[in-house]
Amino acid sequence: MDKIIRGVHEFQGHPFSEKESLFSELASGQSPRSLFVTCSDSRVVPNLVTQTNPGELFVIRNAGNLVPKYEQDQPTSEAATIEYAVNALKVPNIIICGHSRCGAMGGLLALDQLDALPVVQSLLSKETAADRVREKNPNASAEDLLKYTIQENVLVQIENLKTHPCVTAAIDEGRLSLHGWVYQFETGDVFIHSDRSSSFASVRESGEAFA
Ligand SMILES: [Zn+2]
Repeated sequence: MDKIIRGVHEFQGHPFSEKESLFSELASGQSPRSLFVTCSDSRVVPNLVTQTNPGELFVIRNAGNLVPKYEQDQPTSEAATIEYAVNALKVPNIIICGHSRCGAMGGLLALDQLDALPVVQSLLSKETAADRVREKNPNASAEDLLKYTIQENVLVQIENLKTHPCVTAAIDEGRLSLHGWVYQFETGDVFIHSDRSSSFASVRESGEAFA
């Protein structure tokens, strides 16, 4: 804990004073460019990866970067946050960002080994990415299964996003785009899903421009 408190003291020195005018501007409101949905994993740091400032990313984090399907009678914190981002803040983009070596996706591939984590086991047992990947790649190695499950899970969550009425309405109005990413923290690379090629390509190689 000491290191964290020391960090707060350090932040209140130079890093805060450097952005003091930005923080005072943000006191009057926020207008983030994206809702960024990613994993709780400590190795994923959204503002670092995207080199964005306070005020630019509205963030949802949970284990496995999951978006529950919309259910009218069962509101979730994720659904409420999505609705606020899309209808109140009017974000033009939603990014679902999975990441390499995701423990939650490893768990999804080994649900029977999660008896000590019954809540995680129960939550992940509703997720379909691993089954889809096993069906499509019956002979894949364990490493490839994890990689493909991380990617497939991003696509499943994009499908789930489209069950939220606020998301489909905003897409129909032409004011919202959905994006699937996988961040590889060991190399710093980001792989972006292309609907055209139905595959993930390195942002380094594709030179992807992002509005
Ligand atoms: Zn993860």
